[in-house]
Parts: sequence; C-alpha cells; structure tokens
Amino acid sequence: MASETNQSKNVCVIGAGPSGLLAARELRKEGHKVVVLEQNHDIGGQWLYDPNVQEEDPLGRDPWLKVHSSIYESLRFMSPREIMGSTDFPFLVKKGRDTRRFPSHTEFLLYLKDFCEWFKLSEMIKLNTKVHYVGPLNYGVPSEDLKWVVRSKENKSEEEVEQVFDAVVVATGHFSNPRLPCIQGMDTWKRKQMHSHIYRSSEPFRGEIVVVVGNFLSGQEISMELVKVAKEVHLSSKSLIIFEGLSKVISKNENFHLRPQIDTLQEDGTVIFTDGSNIIADTILYCTGYNYSYPFLDTKGIVVVDDNRVGPLYEHTFPPSLAPSLSFVGIPRKILGITFFESQGKWIAQLLSGKKVLPSYEEMMESIEEFYHSNEVAGIPKRYTHVVDAFDYCDKYGENVGFPKTEEWRKELCISAGMNAFANLETYRDSWNDDIDEKLQEALRSPYFTQLEQLSL
Ligand SMILES: Cc1cc2nc3c(=O)[nH]c(=O)nc-3n(C[C@H](O)[C@H](O)[C@H](O)COP(=O)(O)OP(=O)(O)OC[C@H]3O[C@@H](n4cnc5c(N)ncnc54)[C@H](O)[C@@H]3O)c2cc1C
Repeated sequence: MASETNQSKNVCVIGAGPSGLLAARELRKEGHKVVVLEQNHDIGGQWLYDPNVQEEDPLGRDPWLKVHSSIYESLRFMSPREIMGSTDFPFLVKKGRDTRRFPSHTEFLLYLKDFCEWFKLSEMIKLNTKVHYVGPLNYGVPSEDLKWVVRSKENKSEEEVEQVFDAVVVATGHFSNPRLPCIQGMDTWKRKQMHSHIYRSSEPFRGEIVVVVGNFLSGQEISMELVKVAKEVHLSSKSLIIFEGLSKVISKNENFHLRPQIDTLQEDGTVIFTDGSNIIADTILYCTGYNYSYPFLDTKGIVVVDDNRVGPLYEHTFPPSLAPSLSFVGIPRKILGITFFESQGKWIAQLLSGKKVLPSYEEMMESIEEFYHSNEVAGIPKRYTHVVDAFDYCDKYGENVGFPKTEEWRKELCISAGMNAFANLETYRDSWNDDIDEKLQEALRSPYFTQLEQLSL
C-alpha cells in the first residue's frame, strides 16, 4: 500500500556489518536522519577478522560476547564474488587486491569499505560504541507514535549515553553466539572443548586427535584444514550419508574419519559414538551453528527468541505491535545477503517515511500464524523458521518496494557454484568447467558489471 506523506525520522541502526550498512544507506536515501552505532573499531561485522578469541569462554556461553567475528584466518568466500555486490555497486576485481572469484574474507571487508566511501556512509557511523539497552520510551502508545531509548557506551568509557530515536533498526547479525548440542558428560569433560566461533587456525591442534561435531559448511571446511596437521580428525555427523565432494576428501586422507553422533563424553577423554565405537580425543570442536541473541533488547516480552525462532516477526522483519519503529535486518538464512539487505532497508525506509504502509496488526499476526502452521505441517522444526528459499523469497519480499528480481545470471552462478562444491569440495573455489565459465563471461559483459567501470582494474 502507498501513501502520499514523506516524513523524515531519527533512526538508530545498531551494527555496521553488511546489513546495517545497506539499511543505513537506504534510510538516508529516503531522507531520514541516521546514526549507526557499532561496538567494534571498524565497520565490516563478521568480515572484520579478529585474531583474538574469548579464551576464558571457549564455548561462548556468555550472551555478551567480547569478540563478535567468527571468521577464521584462512576463510575464503563460499559464494562467488559476482553474486555478492549490491544492485548498484558490484563486487569488482581491483588491481593489487585479491582478484579470485572466491576471495578471502579480507577482500570482502575491503569491498564494504569501498561501499562506505562511495556512498559516503562514514559520517553516520559511530565506532567503538556498544549498545547496552534498547527499549520503548512510551510503551503503550499506538505503534506509530512509539519512540525508543537507546543506551550506549563508548569503549573504554564508563559513561553511558542515552538517546531517544523515532525508530531502531537491529542489524547485529546472527553468527556469533554459539549454539551447542546437549551431550551427556559435556559438563564434566576435562579436555579441550570449544565452539567454531573461537576457531582461528589449525596450528594449535597439531598432533591432536580432534572430534569435529557438525557436518555443515564450517564443520567440513575446518575439518579439511585440521586434517593437514592433526593426528586424527573425526567428523561427527547426524547422517553418515554424505555427498561426493566430502567423500572424496575422506578417502584421500587416512587420518580423516566419519563418525555418527556422540552419545557420551567420559572424564578420561573417551568419546563414545552412538554406534558404540569410541576413541580417546584431545579436543571436541563444535561446529554446530549459532543462536539469535539480543541481550540489549527490551521489548516488554513482545519479541522473544524461542529455539532460534525470533518472533513474532512479519516477513522476518517487523514485530507487528511495534512496527515499523522497531525492525530487524538480516534475520533470514540462506539468502543472497547484500541485495536482500538492500531491499529490507528500502522497505523499512519507505514505511518510516510514510510512503508505504504495513498491513494491519491483525493481518500481520495472521500471516505469521499461517507461516508457522505451514512449517509445522511440512515438518520443519522451529529452529529453521528463518531458513528461506533464497531466490523465491527474495523476489517476493522485493515486491513490497518494487525491488528488481534476482537476475538469471546471479541465480545460475550461485547454483552452479553450489553444485561444483558438492562434487569438488576441495577445489571448487579455484576450478570450474567451461559451462560455468561461459555463464560467468556472459554475466561479466552485462551492464551490471560495467556500470562502475572506472572502479575496476
Ligand atoms: C564462518 C562464516 C562464513 C561465512 N561465509 C559467508 C559467505 O561465504 N557468504 C555469505 O554471503 N555469507 C557468509 N557468512 C554470513 C555473514 O555473517 C553474513 O554475510 C553477514 O556478515 C551478515 O551481516 P550482518 O550485518 O547482518 O551481521 P554481522 O556481519 O554479524 O554484523 C553485525 C554487526 O553488529 C555489531 N554489533 C553487535 N552487537 C552490537 C551492540 N550491542 N552494539 C553495537 N554494535 C553491535 C557487530 O560488532 C557487527 O559489526 C559467513 C559467516 C560466518 C560466521
């Protein structure tokens, strides 16, 4: 729905990672006054690699984490660079930098810095400023009149600053707070136990027997790195049916073993698996994913995180009774990140300016209930609420603001990279077949990649 008004609001964006930056850019474009509060010393979010880890809390149980990024030193992109840029700022190859299609994490941080410079975002961003509290100033008034109190502290300062905003956009990411399994004996295990959030490199595991729990992307990637230095790597997986790429890696490395789930951990270091087999291990490394966590947020119990479902949220973005003055960007998983954040930012910005209007509270709640119900009928566990069907969902979402549909080349390059990874897990980032190459060359000739030609090479 559209309306005629065009109001400018004071908006606080929390977090200067990819989603916060894209949202801030869209908000300012729409005429809002924007402040981005970022706890770290630089922008980038996950992509601001931090060699430090919270050693005193290797399982990351404290919700107020001291280190945000979970990126490890050798990490390279899992998706090809061509699909990672925003609609108006492609992630181009630049002379003297990492020119690979699947570049290192540093290259993406540089892209984000280029993005900030190009769109002059730095003036809106307050670094070294951690948000400790966000709550409604005038709870109980109609949602369109709600204002928000934001309390933050500059690093190294004891002084808390309180500000009031017309709207708050939460862009704090969801790849930092470890999600851990419940394993018998976990609390009494005396050897090393850690979550991949604090994994940085394989060297500390040299000569060790390591059990990696979780056969998803990070579990596989970290296992492949560990196998080069560890005495043995045991990848513990829910299913022993694995895809071709991983199977090839396991058969090439005598010290790489696939195991079922862990049944029990014993005090003497014995790990007993559900098939009855056992080993004595030095380290258990949990690559078991992350939880959504908003320790600073007080919504009077309206928005809760329950088994990794943040809700109730209309379209994974708006709590119906607090919208549009409170919104979340970046919650859905398995999306095409940057362009999705861009369309989320646009929608939030246009709702705040009054150009667009959300459905009624009742309609939004009904839509959320229907969504939950359809997930239940389909047997989708609650913890997967925010896993969406990337292309279809992004396109449907974008219709709210007339956002362009995902280009065919973007879809094709994304799918072909995934298929190549399935078959060639070790090599997919550096070699691909002629068919993919043809698609790539065709995409690179499109106006999208030539729109900022002066930036490349
Ligand atoms: C190991 C790993 C590999 C990945 N690989 C890929 C990949 O190949 N492709 C891909 O698309 N995505 C990948 N991702 C996902 C990646 O997290 C997203 O691409 C992206 O970083 C999400 O952006 P975001 O801004 O929502 O969150 P983040 O990048 O997490 O940024 C959130 C920001 O909020 C700040 N913040 C948090 N709390 C506060 C507070 N209280 N006060 C102030 N500031 C705060 C943080 O410091 C941070 O800067 C990967 C993630 C991980 C962990």
